[in-house]
Amino acid sequence: MKRDAGKGLFKKILIANRGEIALRIIRACRELGIETVAVYSEADTDCLHVRFADTAVCIGPAKSAESYLDPKRIIPAAEITGAEAIHPGYGFLAENADFADICSSCDLVFIGPPPEVIRALGDKVLAKKTMKEADVPVVPGSEGGVVSVAAAKEVAEAVGYPIILKAAAGGGGRGMRVANTPAQLEKAFHTARMEAKAAFNNPEVYLEKYLVNPRHVEIQILADEHGNIVHLGERDCTVQRRHQKLIEESPSPIMTPTLREKMGKAAILGAKRAGYRNAGTVEFLVDSDGSFYFMEMNTRVQVEHPVTEEVTDIDIIVEQLRIASGEKLSLTQDQVKLSGNVIECRINAENPDTDFTPSPGMITAFHPPGGHGVRVDTHVYAKYVVPPFYDSLLAKLIVRGINRNDAIAKMLRALDEFIIEGIHTTIDFHKKVLADPVFQSGTFDTGFVEDYYRRTKSD
Ligand code: ADP
Repeated sequence: MKRDAGKGLFKKILIANRGEIALRIIRACRELGIETVAVYSEADTDCLHVRFADTAVCIGPAKSAESYLDPKRIIPAAEITGAEAIHPGYGFLAENADFADICSSCDLVFIGPPPEVIRALGDKVLAKKTMKEADVPVVPGSEGGVVSVAAAKEVAEAVGYPIILKAAAGGGGRGMRVANTPAQLEKAFHTARMEAKAAFNNPEVYLEKYLVNPRHVEIQILADEHGNIVHLGERDCTVQRRHQKLIEESPSPIMTPTLREKMGKAAILGAKRAGYRNAGTVEFLVDSDGSFYFMEMNTRVQVEHPVTEEVTDIDIIVEQLRIASGEKLSLTQDQVKLSGNVIECRINAENPDTDFTPSPGMITAFHPPGGHGVRVDTHVYAKYVVPPFYDSLLAKLIVRGINRNDAIAKMLRALDEFIIEGIHTTIDFHKKVLADPVFQSGTFDTGFVEDYYRRTKSD
């Protein structure tokens, strides 16, 4: 549902999420004078979003399918409490077009793009087509889904090996398979389809040239209901394990003003072509020669949004709330200024020594770092029990320095101060990476984490 302009900001919204992002949204609402309704599962009774929201409604058991993922439980919570809108955060229902449709038919504003835009961009094959129409460069590959090994081999011959098979409905780094030879492709085709069916209930896969040493650089955009659209520069998310992000920074160490302008322009053109509204992220791969290719668009706020907030001094959640309320963007492209260097480390409840396996349980001691230029977005506290049911993100540690070296020094200092005991976390892993000369040089690619383990194991 679209809201009439001139009605002012929402009076009350429901947050269909948990953890740090639910808290983050509550904070923005408080500052804007918007009342908040939290929803929570039986496993989350002791969560801070329950405590800090104005109202909290228990919506079901621990299992996400029966609580955070169930519109039948979330919509009534919004109706009973008189919320006007729903902020989905990230994950759960954030990129679910059917949920956005349901909100609309129940006279609730979904804080995000219109359902048809989520649908069109959520289908990665369709999204690439839309971007191509807007003259945005895309990774060379199949025109649409590939339905047989023969068809896949034909495209692979045309673009050249190595190739990557990806799920059309994919996300979260899942459902991807790399193949270096036709024989590998044959195997990868069947496993990728099976994985895609199991994970996303849609076996469709498409094929792309596998760029060997790329960087992952994404552009944050904001678009209002009045045709205004700006980009907020880039985030470099090249440090990944199993295609999932671990460290993000802005500016990207490889960025130049010319490249930023080109990528920003491409992101805006693509978003316009898709009829985009609200906050979104256009993800690109950048090749070693500076060529960039559209990969996908995320139609929601991202985990790493604070990196952009700190480098631009723009509150992205506040902007999302304003845009969804029907207000015009509060800034023009000329007013977007990047200042300093920002780095974010994702502190997960995972054990890096056992290939990042989840490590739920009780946090026995907790002390977050502080000081100048340090921000911690977290929902955890001492004696908090990390449940095994959800995402393993415990905290986002974000620092801002006057340049990249200063930011690295600040991050190392902040990581040293960060105490989380009782469970395994990624804190020590980040300390090692931030101290690594290759990371410090800024000249690495998406194979960095694997390469790091190879280098340091043989020491
Ligand atoms: P998801 O939506 O599952 O996160 P993406 O399409 O965003 O998947 O890709 C995630 C990561 O996978 C990228 O950041 C990159 O490291 C790797 N990747 C995806 N496509 C390619 C490609 N064509 N070449 C090289 N790496 C790729």
